Amino acid sequence: MIIVLKQGISPQEKQETRTFLEQHGYKVREIVGEEDTILGAVGRVQMDVREVELLPGVDRVIPISKPYKLASRELKKEDTIVSIGPVRIGSGRIAVITGPCAVESREQMMESAAHAYEAGAVMLRGGAFKPRTSPYSFQGLGEEGLKLLKEAGEAYGMPVATEIIGTDYVEMFNEYVDVIQIGARNMQNFELLKRVGALAKPVILKRGLSATIEEWLMAAEYLMAHGTDDVILCERGIRTFETYTRNTLDLSAIPVIKNLSHLPIIVDPSHGTGIRGKVAPMALAAVAAGADGLMVEMHPHPDQALSDGPQSLYPEQFERLMRDIEAIAPVLEKELERIPEHKTARGTDFSSEALRDSEKESVTTGKVAFQGVRGAYSESAVERFFGPGYTAEPRGSFAEVFKSVLQGEVAYGAVPIENSLAGTVHEVLDLLLQYRDIRVVGEQKIRIIHSLISVKGASVGGLKKVYSHPQGLAQCSRFFDEHQEIERIPFFDTAGAVAHVAQMQDPSLGAIAGREAAKVYGMEVLKEGIENNPRNYTRFFIIAREETSTTRTPNRAALVFSTQDKPGALFHVLQILADYGLNMKKLESRPIQGKPWNYMFFVAVELPSDQKVLNTAIKKMSESAVDVRLLGHYFVQGE
Ligand code: PEP
Ligand code: MN
Repeated sequence: MIIVLKQGISPQEKQETRTFLEQHGYKVREIVGEEDTILGAVGRVQMDVREVELLPGVDRVIPISKPYKLASRELKKEDTIVSIGPVRIGSGRIAVITGPCAVESREQMMESAAHAYEAGAVMLRGGAFKPRTSPYSFQGLGEEGLKLLKEAGEAYGMPVATEIIGTDYVEMFNEYVDVIQIGARNMQNFELLKRVGALAKPVILKRGLSATIEEWLMAAEYLMAHGTDDVILCERGIRTFETYTRNTLDLSAIPVIKNLSHLPIIVDPSHGTGIRGKVAPMALAAVAAGADGLMVEMHPHPDQALSDGPQSLYPEQFERLMRDIEAIAPVLEKELERIPEHKTARGTDFSSEALRDSEKESVTTGKVAFQGVRGAYSESAVERFFGPGYTAEPRGSFAEVFKSVLQGEVAYGAVPIENSLAGTVHEVLDLLLQYRDIRVVGEQKIRIIHSLISVKGASVGGLKKVYSHPQGLAQCSRFFDEHQEIERIPFFDTAGAVAHVAQMQDPSLGAIAGREAAKVYGMEVLKEGIENNPRNYTRFFIIAREETSTTRTPNRAALVFSTQDKPGALFHVLQILADYGLNMKKLESRPIQGKPWNYMFFVAVELPSDQKVLNTAIKKMSESAVDVRLLGHYFVQGE
């Protein structure tokens, strides 16, 4: 049963409730939601729920109707997100695990890890103990295989997953393995489930060859009842009458599981089909059906594989698959999970010194990525926000800034979110929606002062052509009206226009950009402040990986949500902000990518000194809105 505790319950009352339940033979699990707390009480005992309802501190008691309790959505409404080192699986992410069927040698594992990492996988797999159908087939390298897998994973900063085949190996696996895999053939090995569950480590639980979804969830329940919260279900195909594929990959299990359980579900299209050529299409179908990730067999030389060669992808095929997944992810409002960049000695030098040296290189503190070339307004925003001691690093696109932050190449990014004249930078807003592990941690406002720039010795009268970003040109239209002889030439960005003109060394060519750009490229400012409207400001968001934060106390929060399709839905959600006294500073709607005529709403609110108010409001909003997400807290100077 689910025991929802009253908001004001004292620690002592909570403890008394627990003790009462435990004395009646229940196993009790506490689940802390965003604001309220529930106790899950599981056991064989039958008890009149009214006895529990009478306890002080108990708000209400809800029986769980399903045979699986801890795994059920009834107990826990929010998706479970399983964290394994830097990797997160569940809710809005697509995490891809790859590697060979079996660990065969150090070279094979190092090569596999390199390909996996380069293509963007976040975890490495490889069986060290293989449950083969024939006793004469390769059985795996055993403990030596676990060591090789771990070594290869560590070389690239990737956690490792591998299958355990018996209770004798539990301690050994605990030492070497980040995620323990329970294979299809062992899904109902209850002794194994109990022992592995008790390690309280993340587990990948494969669906048995002929297991129903309920039996599969009951196996998850075994793991959870014995101690782990972190179960990742893995659909890998079931046995049917069909013989053209090795198994029948049951993708309909994904939406069914999503409904019944809060646990993440990944798909193994390799064992699901058994045929290399069928792996990528089914992997994409799995992602489209809502899978939280994939486990795909890939071998550096499939023709030489000791196990499952015919279903293993070539590294190039895997890389292509990753690119295809990246392309379809936005349609599903998901983002490919990534791990921080791990600089390693690529090639053959895997000595510990080489690895240690490369660790030093991967220190990212002090680096901030911005979009554009040197001298861009974004670079000024970085300087203004961070001051000396940080280096600004240019990137080719906004998406690259986000990726650099997520992969840990840089600690922060600076991206423009709104211009006071031109409005929201929609591309950046869309990226914020897409990248779930990125948070807004700061804001910097920059006054945009456009300068007319050319080579030393040039004059305004001698200019024939002026380059700038189309918006820069438009914002200086009055200047051009007064100088009809000058041709306006659109360029991809303002500072880039200065770099271009600097190369030409022609006094008849000019550019419009910030004065910083003139300095960077050794050019001269012919005229400053040529914009029509001097009240031209751009706000930049400072972004970081979720766990990073800046020091200033936040006074603003940014949220997104979408609403149900019914009258008053948006009004109802905004009413909640009003009820909690959260002053709204901005509201904007955005079409949801890939879902025509569906909209997300972006809201910025003033953050009261008691931040709990916001959490309570978000909780309330989640009851009527769909997918409410906090994009971040940040500090905004005097407004
Ligand atoms: C495996 O992943 O290597 C494996 C043996 O899978 P399954 O248990 O799904 O057959
Ligand atoms: Mn295999």
